Amino acid sequence: MNRTYINELSAKEGQTVLIQGWVHSLRGQSKIKFLQLRDITGVVQVVLAEAKLFDNFNKLLAESVISITGLVKKANVKSEEVTEKSLEIEAKELEIINLALPLPIPVFEKDESIKTELSKRLDYRYVDLHKKEVQAIFKVQSTLLQAYHEFMIKENAIECLFPSIIGASSEGGTEVYPVQYFEKKALLSQSCQLYKQMLACSMEKIFAVSTVWRAEKHNTLRHINESRQMDFEMAFADDKVVMDVLARCVQHIVKRIMEEHPKELELLKVNLKVPEVKYLTFAETTQLMKKQKIHVGEDDLSGEAEEMLGKLYPDTVVFVHDWPLSGKPFYIMPKGKDSSYGFDAIYNGMEISSGGQRIHLPELLKERLIAKGLNPVNFESYIDSFRYGAPNHAGWGVGVERLTMQILGIKNIREVTLFPRDRDRLTP
Ligand code: ATP
Ligand code: MG
Repeated sequence: MNRTYINELSAKEGQTVLIQGWVHSLRGQSKIKFLQLRDITGVVQVVLAEAKLFDNFNKLLAESVISITGLVKKANVKSEEVTEKSLEIEAKELEIINLALPLPIPVFEKDESIKTELSKRLDYRYVDLHKKEVQAIFKVQSTLLQAYHEFMIKENAIECLFPSIIGASSEGGTEVYPVQYFEKKALLSQSCQLYKQMLACSMEKIFAVSTVWRAEKHNTLRHINESRQMDFEMAFADDKVVMDVLARCVQHIVKRIMEEHPKELELLKVNLKVPEVKYLTFAETTQLMKKQKIHVGEDDLSGEAEEMLGKLYPDTVVFVHDWPLSGKPFYIMPKGKDSSYGFDAIYNGMEISSGGQRIHLPELLKERLIAKGLNPVNFESYIDSFRYGAPNHAGWGVGVERLTMQILGIKNIREVTLFPRDRDRLTP
């Protein structure tokens, strides 16, 4: 018999089916036993009334993996955990596929007040991932990635793959992981910045999803040391053009998540809206924050300022543009003496993206490298790539985990990372 997924059962009332999954909960009396069976699509109640099934039932612990063959019957199930409340399965056969040991962390936590702490949950992430709520996060993240692809393909962008091992730091700074590359010292990529720029100068409009590594020693709720980024770069474009692309991209992603995941959003108690878009210059933002008595840096927004932007403009992608030149990396195009064509995008109170128009003029690029205390010699092939027909170009990068947490209103980035790498964690 072919397996039926739990969310397909309602179409099979009166039929005998095979369902497979994990024991979500168990309850037994002497003459009749109940269990809740969970698969990736839902939870259903199973009734065991035949005594020949009790031997196997009595061996079960929560999260054991089983097969049930049984009859789909009308019912009215009260349990909140059950997703198919209008039916139940009358078991005819119970096969044990694999018994589970007593669990190191609970999968089904009835009492919200005694939630297992996150670090212990991450130690046992493979068990934690049995939870419906945790699965909901990663179902949403999967749709986020798919929607990003959909959007970019509609924009006629070309998907590109980049190396992760690089010869020189793409952003400057010391927060890079060294790797031994045969006789040479190499680095793990901090971003695909230099490569996506070189590509925009030939392939025009490109996008990428790639892993990046940043050896930042601090432990925060918004940083991990290995993260995934969605990048976009476009030739013959300035900051305005690519901000508009990013705004429409985030709107498309949110819209797709709302369409695909009403159940997951309800489970996670998220009231999602397709975001609006707001444009502010850095100077306007500084004025706005002064009124709110919030500190803003000279050339960077403080965390409090980002939070305040989220409060003033909820459910909005806020672009802060005309960013002070000193606060942006060397590759951002200057605008006058002190300003730039760089921007950040703030969504629900946190930076989700940085971007801007890039420098496509080799001599200016050298000048900016030196101004940032970097040695142009280390960037030779990158600089040379703009000597043989390089159009003006612009782009941005969005953190996959950052965007996931801001869409779902989740406070700790580790919650939205399957296997986070932070200052203290390398396993599992
Ligand atoms: P922040 O100021 O928040 O530390 P950043 O300005 O250093 O971020 P960028 O170099 O602009 O980061 O990277 C582009 C995007 O990648 C950021 O807007 C963010 O969404 C994401 N990102 C950057 N660093 C991290 C990190 N350590 N962990 C998770 N996401 C990150
Ligand atoms: Mg940034």
